[in-house]
Amino acid sequence: MQDFPSEKHQSENLTDTKAPTSQTEILPAKRVRKPRFPKLTRTQSLHELVPLIAASSSMISVTIHKEAYFMMSLHAHLYHHEIIGWMAGKLTDGSLEIESAYPVKEIDHENGRINVEMDIDSAVNVRSEIEERGLNIVGWYHSHPTFDPDPSRLDIDNQLSYQKASESMFIGCIITPYLSTSKIEGILSLFNVQVNNEQLKRVGHHPAFSIRYSYLQTPLSQDAIKRALKLIQTYKHLNKSINPSRVWKRGITYGQKLRLLLEKFELSPEQINDIYKAFID
Ligand SMILES: [Zn+2]
Repeated sequence: MQDFPSEKHQSENLTDTKAPTSQTEILPAKRVRKPRFPKLTRTQSLHELVPLIAASSSMISVTIHKEAYFMMSLHAHLYHHEIIGWMAGKLTDGSLEIESAYPVKEIDHENGRINVEMDIDSAVNVRSEIEERGLNIVGWYHSHPTFDPDPSRLDIDNQLSYQKASESMFIGCIITPYLSTSKIEGILSLFNVQVNNEQLKRVGHHPAFSIRYSYLQTPLSQDAIKRALKLIQTYKHLNKSINPSRVWKRGITYGQKLRLLLEKFELSPEQINDIYKAFID
């Protein structure tokens, strides 16, 4: 296991984890968008970010494989609006392996810069794809294009809904690709939520805890490269797609950032060329 990308090796996980079971109860659910917290004032927006709490002890070891990190990072880099998807992996003997990530089509939103929901049909289809590969859905991810990877109140609410619907471990992931302080691969955080009704009454949301993880430098599957190329083609024609020739910051174009990202993930020269070419063409 390696430490890259290591900027968010954070706290421990406090989830009250049950024994590994099937994931069949996970809802391909449309994410709930209605305020459900009591006593919210007008200034307490559901999009207000909540800093993650560093938990004090580890109950499970979480590992992100390169393919998972790469797919989430690439996906987030293709769009000015938020993107969303499933994390796929296995939970065995107190160890959660996040082996890959599978993009899900997002519903078009006017305020997509700060909001995202899964298209239900796409969520169901992608779940089948994950199961065909012999993996389970172990979490969901979404991007915060230019703001910190801390969950909003709405993210906390959605995460809790997923946890309640899941028979097994289910974690949230947020990736931030284009904050000016972002590393080339983006900033990533993993989190989960604990029910705390006393806190809910007091501040309007349950507490969210960051999850520490290790990074595993495994080769990408051919399937992942195929999916990456297809993903680039899908986003290229959307309204809020990234223009590779425009400047991201300090003279670095979005295209150059993506190329650096591919190198950072140590893809083969052929893979880098294929993916980069698809992005800039
Ligand atoms: Zn969010």
